[in-house]
Amino acid sequence: MDRTIRMTENNFLEGIPEAVPDKMPVRGDGNTLQINEIFYSIEGEGARVGQPTTFVRLAKCNLACFFCDTEFDSYSDMSVTEIVEAAKAHPAEWVSLTGGEPLGQDLRPLCRALGDAGYRLHIETNGVTKPDAELFELIEYWTVSPKRRRVIEGFVRIDELKYIVGKSFREDQVQPDIAKVIYLQPESSKPEFIQKTLGILTRHPDWRLSCRIHKMLKLP
Ligand code: SF4
Repeated sequence: MDRTIRMTENNFLEGIPEAVPDKMPVRGDGNTLQINEIFYSIEGEGARVGQPTTFVRLAKCNLACFFCDTEFDSYSDMSVTEIVEAAKAHPAEWVSLTGGEPLGQDLRPLCRALGDAGYRLHIETNGVTKPDAELFELIEYWTVSPKRRRVIEGFVRIDELKYIVGKSFREDQVQPDIAKVIYLQPESSKPEFIQKTLGILTRHPDWRLSCRIHKMLKLP
């Protein structure tokens, strides 16, 4: 069954039931993971901006955002050991688990192994999959980036909520009470969305602007 949620610019939910399962099926046993790519860069978004980071991009996503620029459908099967060895090839203290949607696979064995190897762990999720409770012990920093859906209940901790501000973004979609910090990130850095974001920030001075500085610097 295809559980992918499709979103368009004008109708952000298309062809799906209103109720989304609170726990998406998790693929695999966690000992081998579908990995799209592993690369080194500088964190370009949110509160960790500027920190050298090894990114582990997990394959597949349960959403299909019209503005998505991430190629996450291709992948290689990698064992936890292989992923840790690949991370060791890069000079970063942090490992960021991203996607696609990283919570579509069982991350516990990988996070235990990366933690044992001394890495600090960051995850970015779209917030429609309920995380396993153990992950909150293993992952230090949680970014939830809701794509025009409310964040599902079950997050023990959200360090930052990061919203993409585009044509259909509305301030009343923000859930300020569930996260430490709210970030607004203009969609694709388009001037109209930068202006829209700056306008919203005048009404919510405790929220913050997130820019994709890795894109500006032409980094991976
Ligand atoms: S949630 Fe993120 S990775 Fe998934 S389709 Fe949307 S923008 Fe792309």
